[in-house]
Amino acid sequence: MANNEPGFSTLAVHAGAQPDPTTGARATPIYQTTSFVFEDADHAASLFGLKAFGNIYTRIMNPTQAVLEERVAALEGGTAALATASGHGAQLLIFHTIMRPGDNFVAANKLYGGSINQFGHAFKSFDWQVRWADPEDLDEIESQIDERTRAVFIESLANPGGTFVDVAAIADIAHKHGLPLIVDNTMATPYLMRPIEHGADIVVHSLTKFIGGHGNSMGGMIVDGGTFDWSHSGNYPMLSEPRPEYGGMVLHETFGNFAFAIACRVLGLRDLGPAIAPFNAFMLLTGAETLPLRMQRHCDNALEAARWLKAHDKVAWVSYSGLEDDDNHALMQRYSPKGAGAVFTFGLAGGYEAGVKFVEALEIFSHLANIGDTKSLVIHPASTTHSQLSPEQQVAAGAGPDVVRLSIGIEDIADIIGDLKQALDKV
Ligand SMILES: *Cc1c(COP(=O)(O)O)cnc(C)c1O
Repeated sequence: MANNEPGFSTLAVHAGAQPDPTTGARATPIYQTTSFVFEDADHAASLFGLKAFGNIYTRIMNPTQAVLEERVAALEGGTAALATASGHGAQLLIFHTIMRPGDNFVAANKLYGGSINQFGHAFKSFDWQVRWADPEDLDEIESQIDERTRAVFIESLANPGGTFVDVAAIADIAHKHGLPLIVDNTMATPYLMRPIEHGADIVVHSLTKFIGGHGNSMGGMIVDGGTFDWSHSGNYPMLSEPRPEYGGMVLHETFGNFAFAIACRVLGLRDLGPAIAPFNAFMLLTGAETLPLRMQRHCDNALEAARWLKAHDKVAWVSYSGLEDDDNHALMQRYSPKGAGAVFTFGLAGGYEAGVKFVEALEIFSHLANIGDTKSLVIHPASTTHSQLSPEQQVAAGAGPDVVRLSIGIEDIADIIGDLKQALDKV
């Protein structure tokens, strides 16, 4: 490319891709194959020994997947990336690479509900302990760190509340204790903020949401910031000690600032198996091309919808960091001046009954458990995702009886507001 540093929108369309060298196809082909032919026996041996990079088997690497990886690594400003079957698959591979049984990590207590389950329940089977801390309370984060802590995990823009977190301040705490900071950037996307620029060492995504953007394909991504020294403490033996399955190779020594992405691939993905399907990689890549356009529209629409709701007499409160008087507005302006994202919550004066009625009356909004679709989405957590909790637990989780969560789509704002209006009229 002519320019040394292409802009974000150019990277979103081009990074990692070229016309297909054999056919000239302009779009990245879907390499729908499980395996790849070796040139000869030596080539096969060097691929298996990590002496050469190349395709062996689609569980480990595939050319369609590779374009998606380069694309997202470029958008995030990382050194390398690894695509997975889902966001949860990506999180599993990250912690598999970092943790030994008995180790712990500190995680923000304001996270996507599925991550709270994965960390708090599923990870127990591996004896990986999670220690929760309020991401707004830096002292609490620091006080949870001990000699068995191996990482700090936060969301840059926390789901479901839609609040920005002070990534740079938390990165400083993690680094002071010799720990990597892992940032889930699903809700913000690199269009709004790039966590590596604020001190994150690893970025993780559910591509299922805004990067794919159309609600049609699952995928996850691990981005290696290339910033963390995996050998300084001896606490990350997968990276700093000889690997018997690769002839005694030390991954950090051999691969330097992209060793983490390699370890997640050749030890995690290879052995645990959550590989992305080539077709899904293609769909997510197509989505990524319009990320900047969609994300700006999501933010602009969400701000207008939040302002309109705030002025409505059946609405008790609106929590959206894009609103000038929101408690989180200063952090939003510092980290994400282009906009505050698509997702926010508000409270109905009529409580639980009003919440159920409102959700049922909406016509353009779809009632479902997802975010980051072109289509506007709504959920009433107290009657769905959080219905098993006690009323006290619901309130603590930000899912009280009156709370409605919206993920604002890219439709015409007049129609979005029109739908909110007709549904509120029925409450
Ligand atoms: C959806 C989501 C995940 C999990 O991703 P999947 O692709 O559903 O596995 C993780 N983090 C956040 C913030 C999410 O919204």
